[in-house]
Parts: sequence; C-alpha cells; structure tokens
Amino acid sequence: MVRKRVALLGATGSIGINTLDVIARHPDRYDVVLLTAFNNVKLLTKQVRRFNPAKVALSKEHIQAMKASFGRKVSFFDVATDLPALVADKNIDIVVLAMSGSVALDPFLSAVQAGKLVAPANKEALVVAGEMIMSEARRCRARIIPVDSEQSAIFQSLEGHRREDLRCIHLTASGGPLLRLPRSRQGKLTVKDVLKHPRWKMGAKITVDSATLMNKGFEVIEAQRLFSLAQDQVKVVIHPQALVHSLVEYIDGSMIAQMSVTDMRIPIQYALTFPERLPTGLKGLDLAAIKQLTFEPPDVAKFPALALAFDVSRRGGTAPAVLNAADEVAVEAFLAGNLPFPGIYKIVERTVLLHKSIGNPSLSDIKEADSWARETAAGFLRKGK
Ligand code: NDP
Ligand code: MG
Repeated sequence: MVRKRVALLGATGSIGINTLDVIARHPDRYDVVLLTAFNNVKLLTKQVRRFNPAKVALSKEHIQAMKASFGRKVSFFDVATDLPALVADKNIDIVVLAMSGSVALDPFLSAVQAGKLVAPANKEALVVAGEMIMSEARRCRARIIPVDSEQSAIFQSLEGHRREDLRCIHLTASGGPLLRLPRSRQGKLTVKDVLKHPRWKMGAKITVDSATLMNKGFEVIEAQRLFSLAQDQVKVVIHPQALVHSLVEYIDGSMIAQMSVTDMRIPIQYALTFPERLPTGLKGLDLAAIKQLTFEPPDVAKFPALALAFDVSRRGGTAPAVLNAADEVAVEAFLAGNLPFPGIYKIVERTVLLHKSIGNPSLSDIKEADSWARETAAGFLRKGK
C-alpha cells in the first residue's frame, strides 16, 4: 500500500483534532508531514510529539518557544506568510484545510495549483473565490474532495450517477440552537446561548453562523461552486435530527441521500480514503430507534441571512467575498461581547448593500473587496449601527 503524506492546516481546531483521530486509526496509510495552528501552542506541541511532522507553522510570536522544545528535529514557519509555499512542497500528497476563515484562500489556491488532493472543511475560501479555485483545479488537475458534511453527502450521492441526470440538490440544515426561539427574543441571547449547538460540536465561528443560518447560506454558495450548479439547483430544507446530511434529486424524481451518525470523522475519512471506504469504529444508524425524520421549510423571515446569501450568490462577482468578510467581523464582535446577536445580520446586510460587485473578479479584486468589507463593517460597529 502506498503511504500518503498529509499536510493538516488548522490542526488544533475541531476538524483538525478529528482529522488526527482518523489518521491515528490508520498508521499504515498516512504520514503527517505538516501541522499548522494559530495560537494554541499547548495542543500543537502535543500533536507534534505524537505525529512527528517535519514542518510546523504557527504564529510568529510562538516560534522561539516551540523551537526550544523540539531543537532541530522540526522546522518552524510563520503561519501568516508561509503556508502557500509549504503546501506546494512535492513531499505532500493531501492537503486538509481545517483552518477557519478566508485566510485559507491563499494556501487553498497554492495547493490546487500544485496539483494536490485537497480536502477542504474550510468553506470561507470557496465562498470568497470558489469559481477561481475550481477553474484552477481543472487547469492544474487537482482533485477537491469536500469535508463539510453536506458537501460530502452531495459528493457521495453524485458518485456513480450521470451528471446530465441531475435535477437539483437539497442541503439539509439542523436549524441550529435558535430554531424554535421567536425572533423577538434573539436580542437577549448571550454568547453562551448561541454556542449551544444541539447536534454538532464545532468551532465558535461556525457555531454562530449555524445560529444565524449564515452557515447554510455559505454552503449554498459553496455547493454551487464545488458542483458547478445553477442558482435554482440548490435548495435548503430544515432537518432538525441532522442525520440526512444532504440529498441529490435526479430527473426521474429519485432522491439519493447520505445518512450517518452526526460525526465529522465520517466525511473527513472519506475525503482521505476516496474511493475506498474503511471502518471508522462508528456504528450505522439504528433506524427503528430513531423512528422519525422530519423536514420543514426554512423560516427566512426569522433567519434573513439565508435569503441574503441566496441574493449574494445571484449577484456573484465580489459580493460573496463581501458577505464573508462582513460576517467574519460581525461574528468576532459578537463573540467578544461587543455586538448583540441581531446586530450580526444588520452589519452584514448593510455592508453587502453598500457594495458594488465587480463581475469576473481577479484575485486582487477579491482581496480588495474583502478589505473594503472589513473596514466598512468595522465602521458600522464603531458607530453602533
Ligand atoms: P476551530 O475554530 O475549531 O479551529 C480553527 C483552526 O484554525 C485552529 O487550528 C486555529 O488555530 C486555526 N486558525 C484560526 N485562525 C487562524 C489564522 N488566522 N491563521 C491560521 N490558522 C488559524 O474551527 P473548526 O474546526 O470548527 O472549523 C474549521 C473550518 O472548517 C471552518 O472553515 C469551518 O467553517 C469548517 N467546518 C467545520 C465543521 C466542524 O464540524 N467543526 C463542519 C464543516 C465545516 P488555533 O487553535 O491555534 O487558534
Ligand atoms: Mg456543514
């Protein structure tokens, strides 16, 4: 069996930890050659001891301290600047993108241009520059196998079927922690309330995005880009049990779904082992015990972020980059206690409405739109609007 060399970007986060758990189950198949984090030196140190990567990247200020513990056995790099060069290394086969935020864009593009197999959990980069990433992947013959559970479900449900037979896809959404809370009570929500996701244990940013349904909006854009779908081919349905991870509908009316326990190790492992399937140690679903699965339409009056994302997706160009950047700023402010929960949507909407989208953008157009949106959203925050 040929061993695969894996670079894991964002090793210390929720997806990163699950990815290392999957890799640890298959020591005969994978070598970890690069691990990256931002500030979590304690966990990163443990992971480096356990998985022995030759290279490690993290925030510059922590490099000296880590060097002191590892001597010359490990080379250390600055995560803010060195990732694009590191992921293009010829000694890497698979790049798992488990870091959060649109900072994943440059390493994503670089990995694709180097022809790697890229397994993105990160969705921000695909929202911001999905068309460019996919066209570079085609040009450079890079394979992209999604880790995000809904996109993995679509990927799996498309396998073995003819593309021309596809009618549309249905992305499922658990509805997050606020599904049954009246909108009038959203103003009183604390950070703790919003971080209590009923189904998934995830990083703070994506958990807040799940509560506003912005996460589902991002996934609509992500799916359109990943699978080259038209606007009206992506639908969203609320499915509170989060066991049907998404569905593909074909022209004869058949629907193919992927179902499993709510555990990210399944899509993570599939992206690593595709087209093979290996045991995960996880059980299948006990359907008789579950008894019922329910589906309902999303309430866009209560969760306007979803409608905004559909609108942004139609506008295309630099609009998705602005949606993402404004959301990153607003969610960070909410998490820091500087913005009430309903303020997240208000800031994002105001920023998006002010933006004049540039069609068919270059990378620098996208980056300019991103910076403009961050400044504009921060300006609204300062004015308390
Ligand atoms: P976490 O917040 O748990 O982890 C984020 C990781 O990225 C950490 O390793 C963190 O390092 C690192 N990081 C944060 N900021 C930077 C930066 N500026 N530069 C470099 N590295 C950075 O996030 P999740 O694991 O929950 O999510 C990761 C990505 O996967 C997101 O894009 C999310 O949308 C997506 N995703 C997550 C799912 C989940 O189940 N968690 C499901 C589907 C998609 P440090 O720990 O040192 O701060
Ligand atoms: Mg998802």
